Parts: sequence; C-alpha cells; structure tokens
Amino acid sequence: MNAQLINGKEVAKVIRGGLKPRIAALKERGVIPGLAAVLVGDDPASATYVNSKIKMCGKLGLHSEVIRKPADLTQAELVDIVTSLNQDPQIHGILVQSPLPSHMDEEAVTLTILPHKDVDGFHPHNVGLMLIGRPGLLPCTPHGIIKLLEYYDIDPSGREAVIVGRSNIVGKPLAAMLMQKAPMANATVTVAHSRSNNLPDITRRADILIAAIGRPMTITADMIKAGSVIIDVGVNRVDDDSSPKGYRLVGDVDFDACVEKAAFISPVPGGVGPMTIAMLMSNTVTAAEKSISP
Ligand code: NAP
Repeated sequence: MNAQLINGKEVAKVIRGGLKPRIAALKERGVIPGLAAVLVGDDPASATYVNSKIKMCGKLGLHSEVIRKPADLTQAELVDIVTSLNQDPQIHGILVQSPLPSHMDEEAVTLTILPHKDVDGFHPHNVGLMLIGRPGLLPCTPHGIIKLLEYYDIDPSGREAVIVGRSNIVGKPLAAMLMQKAPMANATVTVAHSRSNNLPDITRRADILIAAIGRPMTITADMIKAGSVIIDVGVNRVDDDSSPKGYRLVGDVDFDACVEKAAFISPVPGGVGPMTIAMLMSNTVTAAEKSISP
C-alpha cells in the first residue's frame, strides 16, 4: 500500500482563504488584526519561525510587529514589553517565541499575556477552557492537526489515537482535544512518552498515530498498524552534505518505510508545520473579532 499524503501546505492555504473575508470585514469596521512577536536571543531556528509568521501576516494584510531583544534581557524587562503590548489597541495577538534564555521562566511570562491576546493558546485560562470543551484560543499545532484530519475526512470518533509526546504545546493539548465529546474528537486517546514501557506495542494499537517527540526516525514501520493514519509533528535537523545548508529537516517518523504501510501520512516539511502558522493567523483574526464584539 502507498499512503495518501496529508498535504499541510494545501490545507493551510484553504484555512487562509477562509480568513480573507473575515479580515476584509474587520477592515471595513476599521480594524486591522495585529500580531506582535517577541524574540529574545539569537537562536537561528527561532528567528526563522518568527520570520515565517511575520511574512504570513504580510501576505494576509495583517499588521505585525517583531520586538527583537538580546539574550541578556531580564525577565522583568520582558514582562514590561508584554504589558505594553497588552495595552496596545493595534495588537490583538501576542506571542513570545520559545525557547526563552535559560534565566527566564517561560510559564511565568505566559501568565503575563492577557488571555484574549494569547494567540499561542498557552495561557492556563485558555488551556482550562480547552480542557472543559469551552470556546477559547486553541493552541496552534494541535488545532492544526485536527484541521488536517477534518480536511481528509478522518473522523477520530471511536478510533484509537496514540500520541507520542506529552509536551504542553503539542501532546497534552492534542490529547485533550481528541478526547472531547465533540465533532472531530471522541477518540480513545493514549499518550506515550520516554518512560512508556513497550512503546511499539502501544503505537501498533493506533488507528491514528501522532509523533511529537523531537527525535528523527523514532517511529519505524514495525511500530505502526497497517492502514493507519500517521501525523508527524517532529522537526529535526540532520546533517546532509548534499544540501547547501549542510542539513535537512526530517520528522520523527521513518517516512520512506511507513509510507508503504499507512493509509495516510503527513510529510516533514509540508505537513503539520504550515498548519501551525495558519492556525496562528486564525487565532489573531479571532482575537481581533472578539475585540470589537466580545
Ligand atoms: P518536547 O517538549 O521536547 O517533548 C518531547 C516529548 O517526546 C516528551 O514528552 C518526551 O517524553 C517524548 N519522548 C522523547 N523521547 C522519546 C522516546 N524515545 N520515546 C517516547 N517518547 C519520547 O517536544 P515538543 O515541543 O512537543 O516538540 C516535539 C517535536 O515537534 C519537536 O521536533 C518540535 O520541533 C516539533 N514541533 C513542531 C511544530 C510544528 O509546527 N511543526 C510545533 C511544535 C513542535 P518525556 O516527557 O518523558 O521527556
């Protein structure tokens, strides 16, 4: 069997297309959705992520600002920046790019973002709403994964979903979303992690397997069920002398082997990544809409 590719670029384009009339309607009411990204330090991957997000704002006609600060910024100074963005009426969404320098407490910084401007969906207020199935700003990567499943008509209802990875930004919120008593949910969810015993036995149960591990080639063909849906969240740099950059990006899944056995598989790049940015744009537009009709 050769799996059908889950094309995140295509689905992200559809999501962005759906945002355009909403952005136009906001503009007619004098509101341009605005996103502010705070980038602390000089991590090249973080700079690339922020640039992609800001570029997408430009393409959609959203207002955007990047606040770049050196790695020796104090936490108090960062909180001051967030506080002024909280008060800025032109800014509807605030993201503080992770990872922050090690002297900072990321969770404490997240708490200073007003929940209605928390377009990453990381604030405990939004996390709590998500957990109890109430509307709020949803975290972009897990929400993007649900949208991918929806686009390909893969209803998780009644199926075994196994998530490998329990981070606060991917694994845990995705588990919460997939277990909801709601459309595009109702899955039987298992969350595995580095302390799970017999990982292959767990992953082989999955009708829908989501790998959010951060280690290349962790999910091999013998670990998946034939005919399953494989979503690869991982983004890993591996050395590649044939590439001008000296590296290439791969996921957490052994794509070449699993594509032969799965029914659907998302590639890296071009799978989950574009969805994360699309859902960030979506959250920014939603936040702008709420700012005029809360
Ligand atoms: P993370 O915070 O580092 O969490 C990794 C998770 O994987 C942890 O729960 C860890 O278990 C588990 N794990 C590590 N090694 C394992 C193993 N050998 N077997 C089973 N579980 C293992 O990572 P994250 O932030 O969720 O990100 C995961 C990956 O997704 C990274 O490559 C990241 O770059 C990528 N990502 C991509 C996007 C996107 O837009 N495409 C967005 C976010 C993240 P413990 O909890 O026990 O340590």
